[in-house]
Amino acid sequence: MPAEHKDEQIADFDAQAVDVAVVGAGPAGMSAATRLARAGLSVVLIDEQDAVGGQIYRAIGRADARRKEILGPDYAAGEAIAEAFARSGARHVARASVWQVTREHAVQYLKDGKVGSFQARRVILASGALERPFPIPGWTLPGVLTAGAAQILLKSAGEVPASAPVLVGCGPLLYLLGWQYVRAGVPVRALVDTTRHEDRWRAKRHLLSALRAWPLLSKGLNLIRTLREARVPVFEAADDLAVEGRLGSDGVQRATALTFTSQGRAQRIEADVILLHQGVVPNTQFTQALRATHRWDNGQLCFRPQTDAWGELDVPGIFVAGDGAGIGGAQAAAEQGALAALAVAVQLGAIDRSTRDSEAAPHRAELERVMRIRPFLDSLYRPRDANRIPADSTIVCRCEEVTAGELRGFVGLGCLGPNQAKSFGRCGMGPCQGRLCGLTVTEVIADARNVAPGVVGYYRIRPPIKPLTLGELAGE
Ligand SMILES: Cc1cc2nc3c(=O)[nH]c(=O)nc-3n(C[C@H](O)[C@H](O)[C@H](O)COP(=O)(O)OP(=O)(O)OC[C@H]3O[C@@H](n4cnc5c(N)ncnc54)[C@H](O)[C@@H]3O)c2cc1C
Repeated sequence: MPAEHKDEQIADFDAQAVDVAVVGAGPAGMSAATRLARAGLSVVLIDEQDAVGGQIYRAIGRADARRKEILGPDYAAGEAIAEAFARSGARHVARASVWQVTREHAVQYLKDGKVGSFQARRVILASGALERPFPIPGWTLPGVLTAGAAQILLKSAGEVPASAPVLVGCGPLLYLLGWQYVRAGVPVRALVDTTRHEDRWRAKRHLLSALRAWPLLSKGLNLIRTLREARVPVFEAADDLAVEGRLGSDGVQRATALTFTSQGRAQRIEADVILLHQGVVPNTQFTQALRATHRWDNGQLCFRPQTDAWGELDVPGIFVAGDGAGIGGAQAAAEQGALAALAVAVQLGAIDRSTRDSEAAPHRAELERVMRIRPFLDSLYRPRDANRIPADSTIVCRCEEVTAGELRGFVGLGCLGPNQAKSFGRCGMGPCQGRLCGLTVTEVIADARNVAPGVVGYYRIRPPIKPLTLGELAGE
């Protein structure tokens, strides 16, 4: 078990100034905080989860041997990172949801129903990734979850679906979850893979580079092999996805089946647990709210913040590390966290430039090595247009129940981008603050206007970026 790490109480640091605030306790945040504390700086690592680990190493500190065996060696590797952090002297504030980071480096959060804030000299944002929205007909029905959400239940509580799930979509996390279910003895009804033959051809162009990151590639092949050996039915090149629902005796409509075509043939699989996934995208809520410059990444089909080589935004003193800066995976996140920490340590006078540069060199080399597989993965698992830019009847904004057709109607009335869509139809104004619909809204509008997504832009994100009641705010 990782060394116990004391969870700081609000009063321990409220209203005090610290050298560095690190938001997000995944590999990027833990690695940054550990290095900064070693440089003698006062560091607060703040996260809404109840323990360190982030997405990949969620609940690593309390996972028993059986759960670690099910989740695999990549998960168990988080133990060493969490232990190093626990020994570092950095402070950890758990169950604290950060709802604002200002350009002046104030961090405002909600913990145990109370708001608090503290001032930092530098901030490292390591808030990771979100699953890409997967708007298909029926995706809002009870029984349909994202694969990431199902994996959170597995990691944090050892929970698995009550009936055999269907896994649908593409990307490493989908296969990883299937592999983990097989190891846990959970029957998987089917894997419905949306990867097209042309995606495989396109990806082959990057195979040579990916081969230079062979350990990562071979792990992926092992996941697929395990699923085949477990005789999980795999449907390839799936298209025209839709979830069917039926009204139950309790008056609630629930998912009952997935329909699709595979290799041109119509298919229907009955299931009441349907797990969707088509990759992850940077969580840019903080960087967007800070008005940092973002650009559209056409390889990863998402916005990413622009940074210098150390992760510093064009908002001085604020850095981004890990998947929040662009999807690179856990190993890349840890390297980026270390690089950002070195740059911050120089800015705060804790180390000199030559120490920074000599220490940075192996981190940069490792970062370059693990990133070699990205072009291959990004091409292979590029989500289909139809699963990102849905047909008119599909709901796009789940909070306010706005359909793709309504959005296209707004464009017909002169709506130019996501911000205007808010005033036309409250799109993106619900509790998720656009996290679940932002990219879809951008792409639907860009498609309707026949311009690039970068031209359309993203929601103008405003704090609080996480739900906060007026009562909680007034409590400050
Ligand atoms: C649901 C999900 C599951 C994943 N599972 C895996 C996996 O099993 N294996 C794998 O290789 N990759 C997985 N990934 C990809 C994975 O996230 C990364 O590659 C890696 O964890 C990135 O590390 P990171 O440090 O950048 O961010 P993360 O590990 O994502 O950590 C970000 C942290 O920021 C915290 N945070 C975010 N916003 C706030 C806020 N407003 N206030 C307070 N805290 C906040 C989160 O609670 C989280 O702990 C998963 C991604 C997702 C979205």
